[in-house]
Amino acid sequence: MTNEELTTDGRTESDESTYDSASDANADPDGEPLVEQSISVEGSDERSTPTNPETVIESRGLDVFYGETQALQDVSMEIPEKQVTAMIGPSGCGKSTFLRCINRMNDLIDIARVEGELLFEGKNVYDPDVDPVALRRRIGMVFQHPNPFPKSIYDNVAYGLRLRGHTEDLDQVVEDSLKKAALWDEVKDQLQKSALDLSGGQQQRLCIARAIAVDPAVLLMDEPASALDPIATSKIEDLIEELAEEYTVVIVTHNMQQAARISDKTAVFLTGGELVEFDDTESIFENPANQRVEDYITGKFG
Ligand code: ADP
Repeated sequence: MTNEELTTDGRTESDESTYDSASDANADPDGEPLVEQSISVEGSDERSTPTNPETVIESRGLDVFYGETQALQDVSMEIPEKQVTAMIGPSGCGKSTFLRCINRMNDLIDIARVEGELLFEGKNVYDPDVDPVALRRRIGMVFQHPNPFPKSIYDNVAYGLRLRGHTEDLDQVVEDSLKKAALWDEVKDQLQKSALDLSGGQQQRLCIARAIAVDPAVLLMDEPASALDPIATSKIEDLIEELAEEYTVVIVTHNMQQAARISDKTAVFLTGGELVEFDDTESIFENPANQRVEDYITGKFG
């Protein structure tokens, strides 16, 4: 783990986290060199074949430890491009830990240690030449509790671009991002209003707009609707399905119905940080191969 790794302007990851560690995963995307050039970040237009999607994230024998405690055990999984992949399983089985490995948010936890490989577009994100801040621009994150900055709606969405020195076309990016996050119609006449005055559901869609504004390939979502009421939840679920037309979405949810409703693939983690089954969502819910998964799905435990 490289907690000391500097971003290109000399700040450490820890410095970023002092403002709002959660938000910085998607809202502090400066750090010019992406990862090294062997990571292809172009050409996604050529890879829009949903019938045979390419793998965009792959874990190989991933182990994660917090001090002496092992949170993930030998997790290997291929996450396809432009689909929704859900992580389900009982509390404490490592779902969030896995999500945080993908964009190296676990770097911010001192006692976390990662072994094995986590590939993004074929490149191990734990290689020493990978800039975690740049990585997080390509792999944005949305959290359980919406965490807009105490700034205007406009400034929240423009934040990441401004950090990188972009001053042109900000209006257009803000508008496009808010449209993609299904929030534009509700806020277009009040872009200077404080983001904190929005409802919880609107704040969460604003956080999604903020992540989208810096042009990610992947959106990680950790229980993004669990703090929201049913109507706001339904809007977020619809939005996630729309987002998957353009982005790879990986979502942790404790809500099995939600996983069944919105995901294409489902990964079932069980106690001990073991990935027990990973398959098409339909197969997982209708015909799981593993007895423990069936027991979990049918509510026999968990
Ligand atoms: P889930 O998302 O499935 O609820 P987590 O990934 O949050 O599971 O946690 C997996 C295991 O790792 C749990 O035993 C949890 O207590 C432990 N864990 C998670 N985060 C930390 C941390 N920051 N420090 C120490 N242990 C942690």
